[in-house]
Parts: sequence; structure tokens; C-alpha cells
Amino acid sequence: SAMRHNRVKQTKTVCTYCGVGCSYDVWTLENGADPNDRHILKIEPLHGAANGISTCVKGKFGWEYVNSPDRLTKPLIRERHAEGDRFREATWDEALNLIATKFSEIKREHGPDALAFISSSKCTNEESYLMQKLARAVIGTNNMDNCSRYCQAPATTGLWRTVGYGGDSGSITDIEAAGLVLIVGSNTAESHPVLATRVKQSHKLRGQKLVVVDLREHEMAHRADLFIRPNPGTDLLWLSAITRYILDNGLAHTEFLKQWVNGTDTYWKSLEPFTMEMASERCGISVETLTQLARMIVEADGVCVLWAMGVTQHSMGSDTSTAISNMLLVTGNYMRPGAGSYPLRGHNNVQGASDHGAMPNFYTGYQKVEDAEVRGKFERAWGVTLPPKPGLDNHQMIGAIHEGTLKCMYLFGEEMSLVDSNANVVADALAKLDFFVMQEVFFSETCRFADVILPASPSLEKEGTFTSTERRIQRLYKVFEPLGESRPDWCIITDIANRLGAKWSYPSPKEIYDEIAALTPLMAGVTYERLEGYKTLQWPVAEDGSDQPLLFTKQFNFPDGKARLYPLQWNEPTDQPDAEYDLHLNNGRLLEHFHEGNMTYRTEGIREKTPCAFVEVSPSLAQARGIESGSWVQLTSRYGQVKVQAVVTDRVYGNQLYMPMNSLQNLDEAVNKLTSSHTDSVTHTPAYKETSVHMQVLTSR
Ligand code: SF4
Repeated sequence: SAMRHNRVKQTKTVCTYCGVGCSYDVWTLENGADPNDRHILKIEPLHGAANGISTCVKGKFGWEYVNSPDRLTKPLIRERHAEGDRFREATWDEALNLIATKFSEIKREHGPDALAFISSSKCTNEESYLMQKLARAVIGTNNMDNCSRYCQAPATTGLWRTVGYGGDSGSITDIEAAGLVLIVGSNTAESHPVLATRVKQSHKLRGQKLVVVDLREHEMAHRADLFIRPNPGTDLLWLSAITRYILDNGLAHTEFLKQWVNGTDTYWKSLEPFTMEMASERCGISVETLTQLARMIVEADGVCVLWAMGVTQHSMGSDTSTAISNMLLVTGNYMRPGAGSYPLRGHNNVQGASDHGAMPNFYTGYQKVEDAEVRGKFERAWGVTLPPKPGLDNHQMIGAIHEGTLKCMYLFGEEMSLVDSNANVVADALAKLDFFVMQEVFFSETCRFADVILPASPSLEKEGTFTSTERRIQRLYKVFEPLGESRPDWCIITDIANRLGAKWSYPSPKEIYDEIAALTPLMAGVTYERLEGYKTLQWPVAEDGSDQPLLFTKQFNFPDGKARLYPLQWNEPTDQPDAEYDLHLNNGRLLEHFHEGNMTYRTEGIREKTPCAFVEVSPSLAQARGIESGSWVQLTSRYGQVKVQAVVTDRVYGNQLYMPMNSLQNLDEAVNKLTSSHTDSVTHTPAYKETSVHMQVLTSR
């Protein structure tokens, strides 16, 4: 009978919804006779290293998408017809052969740099590693990136410049232990809920001080001891001004500076323009408030700064991240528990994708492609000659397609046509590609541009490792078999490589990680045995398996072991409001949805609760324009247009608007149709948060 086939199973996995890295057991019920008859019974957090027994709504209820009827279960190939293109089902053989033929053809005709590869920050470390190995070793290009380009690259740059490692200084337990938590440009309660809970508890029960600096008065702002609302794009100014104030008034941690920090004099000189008066005027914060913040920072027993997209997605994103780290160095808030820098990683594996070489200028563990010695090591290991120059990043790829030099792209697990900034320009580029391969769980919006679509397995159907915001590496185990003919990304990438003449043989992700560890000093001691079950490691991991929950204990990551203060200049934000585009538009996440919503829109309860996007309008602006909650408005920027319903709320202030980025219900609501192609000058991360719009009221309610 059917009953005999029923099987209840309990499997450990790691959440794919944010960088906190919660881990938990998934309870499932399967009917062995019918592969489609399978159910998730419950999520049970037991001993997660990051979360203990907690999860948030996405982790707990956000898994239904795995069994969605929308899942891609067969490869699809575009068929061109006069009356419009169609996709037809194909066998794996046919699809993979077509890809191998096209990749070879394009490489032969236009050279290896006519191809580009984008790895997914939702996928495993092993998969990012194989993707960059495919690009570099098999095709011969460094045109390789991942979506940290859209979010975290500036934070990483700020840390490289000052302390040498692009990772959180400590663990979530350090954030809990800090005397003061300063949150800048992060809607932590909605974007990193479990981590936010820890801060809330410390604040409430231990008297931890909480300061929030943000444009919006979100939940953490409500709870804060001090909430500061600066003018948009001005964080570098107040950060530098309070640092100067601290130095000028003899409040700096001089012993720490003497022992651990280079460049104090030059840096101090560079602070000259950043007076409290100037910052006060430009940021719209009183000198008293700035002074109060400076005092709170020097008086606190350990300061952790948490920041996210509100800092990084600006034309000054790298410099503002640097300013945060400078301030922490001047006040001696590194090299001790309960202190340091905590850029909060967004995707579950945005840290890991970059750690594992899915970047145009680095192999695994941030080993430079330009370094001949490093390159030689990889050439010997992989048995090939490797390209010596850094490749194109995501942003440059779009430009290169428009210029006609980039012809072909292979992208997996990334809704590029909606999440990249200036979506209209991105869509035009994708439509111009000679050959475009998408590997996805669903027929995403970006799939519409593809020539071949490969059905991939989501995390519950594969093994591997993720690295969370704490630099914590964790294993996930296979809960279900791949649905239909879908396959894990690491298997697909391996097959493509082999059809292009490689001789890869990886029986399982474990063997992939062994190869990574052998080539990567940062991960030298990472083994699957050391990550068994709920065991974790926080990089750097030495060969003997010892890891570093606290990143800096004996030295900073520079040859002389000392940190470096990095002088900065101020530049005006791009895309400023004027008479025509008179409102500032901010954007970000909602608690319920994950980004554009490909996963969360396929979870019934979440979709029902939060079906569409909207724009938040302040009470004063609503009154001036005759808007109520529910009114339809049309927003026009210098780059595009959207139509959305208004929500009147005092979370936003004055002439500032806010839109969430979940847009799958209705593409006319996609916020990135409004955002520009301006970027952070160092990393090319789009300045998503610098957008000016004109608002036209379509219907009052
Ligand atoms: Fe998942 Fe993040 Fe929620 Fe944890 S806090 S359950 S990692 S979405």
C-alpha cells in the first residue's frame, strides 16, 4: 500500500534567505512511490550556530516554492518564429551540446573575453568555485562576477583598505556583547531578523546602547536610544566629522593607534574640511546631536557598527564604508570582543561567492589574478594557462554588451533584469546577446531573454556549503531528490566544462571543497568532516582546523600587521533632485519578501499577506499632493517610469519616498526601472539609493 512508502525524515539545512546563516532541521514526508508526493512538515531550529532555536518568518515558512508547480523540470531551448519566439522542451544532451557548440564558436570567432559568467550568491561555495574555474580554466576569461557587485562590494573595499580582510570583525555574539551598537543604513529588523532580535534583547535586558542612523524610522529606529535622520547620501560627512571631533578633543584611543595603526598624521590632515558645523549643515543634524553621538562612541565599552545597503548603494559607498572603519580604528574598536565592523551580508551566500573566486580580479580566498605567483599555482593545479588581466564586473558587462564586445553570457540564480539598476538598459543589453544561458529554479523574468534555460535544483535538493555574514561556513544536506529532470548547479557546470574538453570528475561537493582548500590559504583547514552536522568554521581556517571567530587578534591583514587609516574626500551624490525630479526615492527590502520575490511569491501565505509593491509617502507630502493610502501614483525618474499605490506613513520623512523591491506581481512596479547607471567609483556598485523622481497622482482614493 501507499502507506508503506511514506517516510518522515529530518535533515539539517541552512537558510537561503539572508546572510545571518540560520541553520535548522527540515522535517519532511515523502511517498517513495511518487517523487512528486512530498511535503515539508516543519522547520525545527535546534542548535544553529548563528540562531540557536530561532528563525524568522522567511526561514520558517518560506520553503513552499521548492514544490511549486512553477518549477522548471526540463531544459528549454528558444525557437525563433516569425510570429514570436517560443521555448520548447529539450533533452539535457541536446541543451548541453548546444551550449558547448555555441561557447566554442563564440570563443573561436571573438576570443574568450566575448563570454562572461555570473555566479549566484544563493548557490553554494562549491558552485561558485566551479563557475569561476569554468570561466578561467576552460574558457580563458576573467569575466566573472556575482551579485555582491550590487550590494556588498563597497563594504568589502572599505575593510580591505583599512584592516585588510573583507569580513565581519567578529560574530553575532560580539554584536550582542557590545556596549554600543551603531546601525547605519540597515533595516535590520526586516532584512536580518534573527540578528536584530539579538540586538533588541541586549538593548532591553543588558542596557546595551543603540543608535540608528537612517532615512526611515523603521523598527530599530523606534527602539533606539538615539535616532538620527541625515539628509540622503551624506553619511561620509557626519562619520568623518565625529572622527575629527574625537581626534581634536583628545578622545582618540592613542595607545591603540600607536601600537596598531599606520597613517594617523596624514589621515588627521585629510579630516580638515570635516568640521562639526559643516557636517551639521549638510547632513541636517544638529551639532549637539553629533557631539552626543561622538561622546557615546568614546564612552562605550565596545562599539559594533552594523551597516548595509543604505551605506553601500551610493556613489560614495566604498568611501563611506571606509569612513566607518576609520572611526572604529581611531576609537580602538578592533581587536577585542564586542567591537568592530559588521557589514550585514544580504544573500545567504554573498560572502561565500566572493570568498570562492566569483569575482573578476580574484581566485579563491582573494588571491589576485594579476599576481604571477598565485596564477602559476592555479595554472599548475588546473593544467592550463590562465588570463593575467582582471575581467569585467557585472556593471561593465552590461556596458560591453551595448558596445558589442561581449556576445555571450552564462548566468545562474540571479534575476539580473530586475535587480540590476536601470532595468531598462539592462533588459536592452540582455536582448542583444548572441547567446545567453540561464540556469534557474523558475522561469524568471531574466529567462525571457535566454536562448537556453537549464532547470536547476534549489538548496533543499543538494549538498554543499554556505558562508554567512559572520564568515561562518556551514554544510547543507540534501532534503529531497532533484525534482523532475532538474539538477544541482555543480553537476550542470561540470557537464558543460567536460563537453568543452575539460576532464573534471567530482563525485560530490566534498571533493570540490578538498580542491578549494588545497589552493586557498584562507580556507586551508576546511574539510567536510570538520563541518559535519551542525559544526561550523569561521574563516580564516588554518590547516590544523583552527578557525577565527574574532577576525583580528594578533594582527591586521597587512604585511606589517598594522591597520591603515585611509584619507577620504567628499563628493556630491549623483542624480540629485531638481525642479522637475523633485523627490528623493529610497528602496530596500520588506520582512516578508526576498528581493524581487521569485521564491517568496511562490509561498502562498507570504504572497497573500504582501501581494504587491507600494510607495511610502510622508504625511506632509501626502497632504500637499492630495494623496491617501491606496492612491495610485506614477513615478518618473530620469531613466524610467513605474505605477504603484501609495502608503502614507511617518516612517518616511518630507520629500523622501521609499519603495520595496518585490516586483514580481506586477513588473510595472519594478523599482529598478527608476534607478540609474551611476555607480560607486571604486566597485561599480550601482547608486540605487541616489534616485530622484517626479510623482504624478493618478487617482486619489
Ligand atoms: Fe533565514 Fe535570515 Fe530569517 Fe535566519 S534571519 S531564518 S537566515 S531569513
